[in-house]
Amino acid sequence: MKKGIMPLVVGNWKMNPLTATQAKKLTADLKKALSKIIGVEVVVAPPVLYLSQTHHVRSGAKTFSLGVQNIHHEKLGAYTGEISLPMVKQYEVLHVILGHSERRKMGETDAFVHMKLLAVLKAGITGVVCVGEETRDTHGHYLAHVESQIRAALATVPKAKLTQVVIAYEPIWAIGTGNNATAADVHEMKLFIERVLTDLYGRNVAQRVRILYGGSVTSKNAREIFTDGAIDGFLVGGASLHAEDFIQIVKATQS
Ligand code: PEP
Repeated sequence: MKKGIMPLVVGNWKMNPLTATQAKKLTADLKKALSKIIGVEVVVAPPVLYLSQTHHVRSGAKTFSLGVQNIHHEKLGAYTGEISLPMVKQYEVLHVILGHSERRKMGETDAFVHMKLLAVLKAGITGVVCVGEETRDTHGHYLAHVESQIRAALATVPKAKLTQVVIAYEPIWAIGTGNNATAADVHEMKLFIERVLTDLYGRNVAQRVRILYGGSVTSKNAREIFTDGAIDGFLVGGASLHAEDFIQIVKATQS
């Protein structure tokens, strides 16, 4: 964990749960469970269809905010099926997940991630940029892959906006598989990402960018990965759908 920076835990509900009633119940459970959490920034990213209801149920909660899992870079227009930043800002969305591997698999390119990030930053919102390799190799090609994703996403992002950027390292082989990266793997990658950011923006700015880990994080492995991996928080998929598991992960980042 970086000195003077609050840990960040983002729950990515993906395309869950099935009904608005369940989404409201999960939000209410989280509101209750997170009500006494201090020292951790917590974000919950439901499907946009539930944004209005989750926003309503969350009302008055000070210990977590809402995020979304994707966004279009234009404000409005002929973009069938898309959602824009001004639309979600009405629901006090403060974070947008960008370039998740499940979206990249559906055709989202580095260029799109970059465009979306610029729009998110311009809107005064934080962009959580997901990067990660499909497989690991012994030659270090996975490092080059992660580096190229970061460089492409940040291509024309000015230094002054970097505090609104979060990098989430999510190795694809660890997402939803139960096969999490080890704390040592995570630590190696965290140092590598810091080096790439330092190269791009200088050490002072790079040190202020939060680096998260995501990929089969559970209430059982979170503390070790957080402490020994020396990261700044988590992006959580499956476990964010269970209030009790999610809260344990959040607590694992508390000092
Ligand atoms: C994710 O999809 O961002 C993720 C980390 O999923 P899971 O925690 O289920 O591996």
